[in-house]
Formats: sequence, structure tokens, C-alpha cells
Amino acid sequence: MSQVRVRIAPSPTGEPHVGTAYIALFNYAFAHREGGKFIFRSEDTDRERSTTANEDAILRSLKWLGLQWDEGPDVGGPHAPYRQSERAAIYKTHADALIESGKAYYCFCSAERLAQIRDEQAKNKQAIMYDGFCRGIDPAEARRRVQAGEPRVIRLAVDRSGETCFEDKLRGRIAIRNEGVDDQVLLKSDGFPTYHLASVVDDRLMGVTHVIRAEEWISSTPKHVLLYNAFGWTPPMFVHMPLLRNQDKSKISKRRNPTSLDFYRNEGYLPEAMLNFLALMGYSMPDGREVFPLSEFIAGFSLDRVSTSGPVFDLQKLEWINGEYIRRLDTDELATRICNGFTKRIGVPDEAFKKAVALIRERIRKLSEFDDMTAFMFGGVEDYDPALLIQKKTTKDDTIAMLKDSAELIAGAADFTPAATEAAFRGMAERAGAKPGNLFMVLRIAVTGRKVSTPLFETMELIGQEECGRRISVALGKLAGA
Ligand code: GLU
Repeated sequence: MSQVRVRIAPSPTGEPHVGTAYIALFNYAFAHREGGKFIFRSEDTDRERSTTANEDAILRSLKWLGLQWDEGPDVGGPHAPYRQSERAAIYKTHADALIESGKAYYCFCSAERLAQIRDEQAKNKQAIMYDGFCRGIDPAEARRRVQAGEPRVIRLAVDRSGETCFEDKLRGRIAIRNEGVDDQVLLKSDGFPTYHLASVVDDRLMGVTHVIRAEEWISSTPKHVLLYNAFGWTPPMFVHMPLLRNQDKSKISKRRNPTSLDFYRNEGYLPEAMLNFLALMGYSMPDGREVFPLSEFIAGFSLDRVSTSGPVFDLQKLEWINGEYIRRLDTDELATRICNGFTKRIGVPDEAFKKAVALIRERIRKLSEFDDMTAFMFGGVEDYDPALLIQKKTTKDDTIAMLKDSAELIAGAADFTPAATEAAFRGMAERAGAKPGNLFMVLRIAVTGRKVSTPLFETMELIGQEECGRRISVALGKLAGA
């Protein structure tokens, strides 16, 4: 068999979408597993909605994920250009060839006429499709009108008898009756190709062997097969991946789930966690593992393991996987990643920063949580309600006494390491006949301003003996004024 060649072919008409990353991942894995090539093609033929900024964002996002292509607009390749807007002449030549062979025809119908047909068909509850009005125009006459500069499109002349079928690798044989297939436009009046023509011509010229794309394109595939037939070409293998879905099983949408890859990047999802999560969409590892590196996904990759039942894009699961990946990083690496865009705390001494990272690594699920979780370590304690200091079955006076003893203990401590401090405070609680848990909660609130924080004694060490003492005085002041 010839070398496997696959492609991701996004239209740069919006933000970089998680669905694009998902399809890119499966193409990438297949190409790598089979020793093939992975192509990036920009399908920017919608001239109003395509922008280079969107294209850049998609390229950047896929690179962030590490899904590097072998051929593409930025790296070139044997079939350049890889941007459809730069291939207009190629599509025209191919559309012209179909006119020559009688497989396609010029259509001069005005927008008004087409609207009229549509309205009529809608009124009669008929399928909306072109009525074939220009199909009967004599080719010589059509050429004359073209030469005279009359506005026109080129349409495929679809044979309405029989059916068109193709083999989907995941779904088996799919067939549709030709009587319902429209004489699709191939070349628009602005000379730009439609998606169908450009996609088929490019897949052919770029030697694409497997078209792995989302399920939503299944209805376009018969049109593509008709085009392959019209050109006399053998179609590639089609693989329609299941659509990503919201929890309620509807197609993934911005209203229910963030869909922009930028969102995930900015929130502090790790690219490797994101890939792992996407790899689980419609796919399972033979041993059922849910956390695995890309290399292992590729090593055992098989399209046979793709299931077509709609995978649910579950943010909580993604957060869980992300947390798993965060905990697999060593502290230095995690600190470096957090420093790269996930903290405002520049100028924090390196060692203290790393200690803070070590304290949150077990609790964090996204890098963006770092600043909030560690705010009290570097920035001081946020204002809190002094009532929080008074524990159940404890009076204000007891609490004041506890805090005074604590201040004394801290001021006099010769060893402020976590183990020593904890032992000292446990001793203090015992002598006072108090529950250590209560004392620790009072300390935690005084030192961090929060009921939930990083481990208390490690945090106190990081904050420092003197600063802890100062915070206890502040707590005493608050209680006195309460
Ligand atoms: N340009 C289409 C898209 O935006 C490509 C579909 C295909 O892969 O053929 O997804």
C-alpha cells in the first residue's frame, strides 16, 4: 500500500476549536502509527469570514498541543501552496476540465431566480435544490455567454438515477439515492471554489489516502464521491469521527462548554493533559487506562478502536486528568510552567516560589489556580470576619488566650520547621486541655485568612516566623474590636 497521507483542513473562520484539535490528534496519531505524513491545509475559501489572524491562532494552538504537521502553509512541502486561497488557478483548471468532459455546466441563474425556486419548493414542501434550468443550455452558447462576461457559476451535472455509496471505515457502507443530490456549485461567481471542489481536488493532488474528519461531513461525502467519479479518480478511505457532545448529548457548543483552545491554554490546562483527554473521546486503550502519554496512544493506535457513540466532553474529567498530569511534573518543571504566564507574582524569590509550588501541587487542577491559592503567602491576608476565629463551644476569651499563647510560642520558637512547630502546638493544646483541631483552625485563619489552605505548618514556615507573629497580632486586634 502507498504511504499513508492524512490531513487536518480547518477553515480559519473563528477561534481555534477543540473539535479541530480532536480531529488533528486522530490524524496525527494515525499518520505516526503508520509511518505516514500529516498535512495541515488551510481551507480559507470563505473570503468574508476567513482571516489570517484566525489561521495563525489555529496553527499556534496545534503547535502548543505538539501536533506538528509535516507539510503546511508555514513549513511548505511538495504540494505547496497549502492555503486554498492561493490555489484558485488549480480549482479553475479542474472545473474547466469537467466542463470540457460534459460532467459540469455553467449556470447563469440570478440570485433572484434561485431564491424564487427555493421559495416555491419550500411552499410545496419539496427538497430544496437547483431545478437544472441551465443544464440544457447548448455548450457553444454557454461559452459565448461566458466570453461576454456574464456572471455565472459552475455546477456538477449529477446523474439522478441510481445511488452513490462509499465505505466508511467506522460505519460501513453508506449509500444515498442520487435523486436527492443537488447539482452542486463547484466554482462560485467570484471564481473561488466551494468546499466540495477544493476539498476533493486538494485531497487528490496532495495524495491524501485517508480522510479522517468529523461526522458532520458525512452528508457531504456522497457529493465528493460523485466528484471523484466525474474526474475518474478513486476516492480515498473515509473515516468519520464521532462528534464531541455536551453533557446533554447535543453537539458541543460554546453555550455549554468553552470551545476555544485559547480558553484551555489560558486556564492552565497542560497540552499533554488536553491531548490525553481528547484521545479518550471515542477511543479506549486496550487495557482501559485513562491516563497515558501520547507516545503510548500512538504506539497502539488503531482506527478499529474508535467507537462511534457520541463522546461527551466532560470538563470535570478534563480537570481531573489535568490534575493528574500536574502531579506528575516535578516541582521545578511545574514552577517553570506557572511562571510562564500563570502568575502575576514576578519578583518572588525563587526558593519561596518553588516552596509555594510544592505546597499546592497536590491540590491544584489548573495552573491558573496558583495565584489565588497562594495569595496569602506572598500578598498578605485578605480581610476576614473575626467571628471565624471563634470555634464551636469556644468563647471569645478562650480564643484570645489561645492566640496570645500562640504568639508567645512563635516568638520564642528556636526551630520553626513544620515538624517542630506542629509538635510545639500539639503540646500547647494538650496543656490547655483543648482539641488540637480547634487550635489549628484558629491558627489557620489567623495566618491565612481562610478556613481551607495549604498544609498549616509548612505554610507557616514559608510565610516566616516573624510574619506569622504579626498576623496573630492582627487577629488579636480584630477580636478585641469585634
Ligand atoms: N474545512 C472543513 C472544516 O472546516 C474541512 C472538512 C474536511 O475535513 O473535509 O472542518
